[in-house]
Amino acid sequence: MAGANPTPEALQAFLDRLSAEIHERGDWGKVADYIPELADVDPAQFGIAVLLADGSMCSAGAARVGFSVQSISKVFSLACVLGRIGEQIWQRVGREPSGSRFDSILLLELEKGIPRNPFINAGALVVTDELLTGRTPRDALSEIIHFIRLAADDDDIHIDRAVAMSEQDTGDRNRALVNYLKSYGNLKNPVDYALGTYFHQCAIEMSCIQLARAGRVIAGLPGAPAILSPTRARRINALMLTCGHYDESGDFAFRVGLPGKSGVGGGLLIVAPGRASIAIWSPGLNDTGNSRAGTFAARRLAEFTGWSVFG
Ligand code: GLN
Repeated sequence: MAGANPTPEALQAFLDRLSAEIHERGDWGKVADYIPELADVDPAQFGIAVLLADGSMCSAGAARVGFSVQSISKVFSLACVLGRIGEQIWQRVGREPSGSRFDSILLLELEKGIPRNPFINAGALVVTDELLTGRTPRDALSEIIHFIRLAADDDDIHIDRAVAMSEQDTGDRNRALVNYLKSYGNLKNPVDYALGTYFHQCAIEMSCIQLARAGRVIAGLPGAPAILSPTRARRINALMLTCGHYDESGDFAFRVGLPGKSGVGGGLLIVAPGRASIAIWSPGLNDTGNSRAGTFAARRLAEFTGWSVFG
């Protein structure tokens, strides 16, 4: 990545302007309503937090408000499973962009039960199933939460059980995906264990400030705890760049040029390797299920900082 980082003061002033601009635009998108508990969230909210390599944290808007991280949790479950079984996970899940919706069943049928990548739902379900092997759902969840708390250096990160139960009641597509995986012999644990653990991991709640801190290990920032090897962090970054926004991943790479992972709670974790860990939240989504204002803010931030993995 070329060029110097902006000073924390210049970045802070920019984030304040950006937050004001987002509210003026008022282009919020629609909250995810297939998880009833998320349908009640006010879409007109925006928060951003940027943790720089020198340890300074700049933030604006609702950066301290907790939100449901949903699919962003898949980054951390992948980090855990790589630590647990390493490369063997690639026998059960691929590493190619899907070009399809995050909950596509079609692709799983075509590819005979080997999901395209660990960030679409089917792939994340395989990762969670692997984390469950030989352990209880409670222990598997503890491992993910423990990893995130260590990464963020914050024990005040929890699962919102109401969100997990809400998805448990309505998550029929995920139920279908797990059953498909099972029918192809790519599920090791009982369907309900894999689903329950997955719904709870998606229901982890964090604020932008907490998520930006947790992202330190993925961004390889100085001072981050040594819980993820640099090689694995690099590989997770590659997958975030190519697969982190489902069928909008190409456009995000084109316009923002940084690895990122979205969630249907409206969150985004974005990585400027070695420079910054960025968390953005705005709950209204676009048609691809990514935060509408959050994606706009990511573009503005990349323009302002000049950060890009492409030099
Ligand atoms: N829990 C959500 C689901 O499985 C996560 C999807 C997402 O954030 N894109 O549908």
